[in-house]
Amino acid sequence: MSTYHLRIMTPEHEFFNGEVEGLIVTVPDGELGIFAGHLPLVAPLVVGSIRLKIDGEWKEAFNSEGFIEVGHDDTVLFTQACEWPEDIDVVRAEEALRRAQEKIRQRRSIAEHKGSKISLARAMARLRVANHKLK
Ligand code: ATP
Repeated sequence: MSTYHLRIMTPEHEFFNGEVEGLIVTVPDGELGIFAGHLPLVAPLVVGSIRLKIDGEWKEAFNSEGFIEVGHDDTVLFTQACEWPEDIDVVRAEEALRRAQEKIRQRRSIAEHKGSKISLARAMARLRVANHKLK
């Protein structure tokens, strides 16, 4: 299967740099698959997961908000945070989930409500990618 070059960057580090056979990312209206020869594009990413196909196997990682730039020669994905399942601290994510739920329950301002919903989405996506069941 043809491959292409992918880099995944966060503000803190280079998360991935290598050849992939495919990539599936979470965009506002669903999922977007990028395979070799895809037309160039720029698209926003929402909180969710990134799936990479490397040597015939799919791997999944959590991603926060960001964007992807697909070029003729390589693809770059920028995201605020990205973690492999084994690097996700599930206790921290559960605490973030409870905090966000409590803030939503308190019915704060619209701006705060939006922020809490995004925090909730991050925590839920981390727990899903880590395959962690809530008690
Ligand atoms: P918290 O309220 O626990 O900080 P958050 O969703 O606000 O959660 P982010 O802003 O997405 O956190 O991430 C800040 C930094 O902390 C990033 O480097 C991210 O990778 C890391 N991080 C956040 N939560 C976790 C987690 N549960 N496990 C591993 N790393 C995490």
